[in-house]
Amino acid sequence: MKLALPQHKEPRDAKDRRSKNVVVCYPLDTLPDTNLAAAVARRTEAGLLESVVVPPRAAVCVDVKAGHFVRILSIEGPQVGDLNIWNTHNIEERFYSGKTRALHGTHVSTGDSLWSNFPYMRPLANITCDTLDWYGFDEDGGSVHDVIGTRCDPYTQRLLSDEEYHNCCHSNLTRALADHFSLNLDEAEMHVHDVMNVFMLTGFTKETHQYFMKASPVRPGDFIELEAQTDITIGLSACPGGDCGDKHSSDAADCFPLQIDTYAPKNLDGFIASGPSLYNRSHGR
Ligand SMILES: [Zn+2]
Repeated sequence: MKLALPQHKEPRDAKDRRSKNVVVCYPLDTLPDTNLAAAVARRTEAGLLESVVVPPRAAVCVDVKAGHFVRILSIEGPQVGDLNIWNTHNIEERFYSGKTRALHGTHVSTGDSLWSNFPYMRPLANITCDTLDWYGFDEDGGSVHDVIGTRCDPYTQRLLSDEEYHNCCHSNLTRALADHFSLNLDEAEMHVHDVMNVFMLTGFTKETHQYFMKASPVRPGDFIELEAQTDITIGLSACPGGDCGDKHSSDAADCFPLQIDTYAPKNLDGFIASGPSLYNRSHGR
């Protein structure tokens, strides 16, 4: 956070230094086309494969094959989900929230890709439908589905409150990943990463630019849907914060289950699975 009272005087040319043009770091016009219309057409023909319920304050992992769709659905009440994504065949490759944010902005929606870490850096999934796209940004600068938060975790909880709480999203995802891939908790924990905060309403305060949350506008029936761009495993935690309108990292909030539905398209016409980055990795040597 910046000091309320800076310790150093503004230079004489401060106004000039502040008046430079804003330049978008990563213009998107040269990104590969996600071909959303074709994906939506494949989705229209797709049939339900599997339906899994994520209990409150717990997480579940589900495999999604390349070209299949996965819908994350609000079912019983307003509830936020913390989403991790791995390459099913190599969990070292995982969702990279920072690069996704740098490319697509603080909050994602239909048409955006969810990218993986270096050296792979490819779309793990593309967002094909988001029933909360109407929300846009509110007057506080808040929106849904952020890639700016991390995940609620027992370490920060311990740091800030001296309490031990074991059902933070970080721990829920650790247990779910360990169970899914038969890893021990220590191994699994190292693969849990910064999340996409599904349905969560967040932003930065105008004055101090601190990360804030507000009660999620999600209601039962709302969903966000992804098309897997390679074989992925998703981990979804039903956050102990519930709608994250008040507290998280405790059992205080009303908490509801989430549902994960996977769909297989009738055919994969026009679908091209994503490949890892073509960078040669010589790093100049
Ligand atoms: Zn959480």
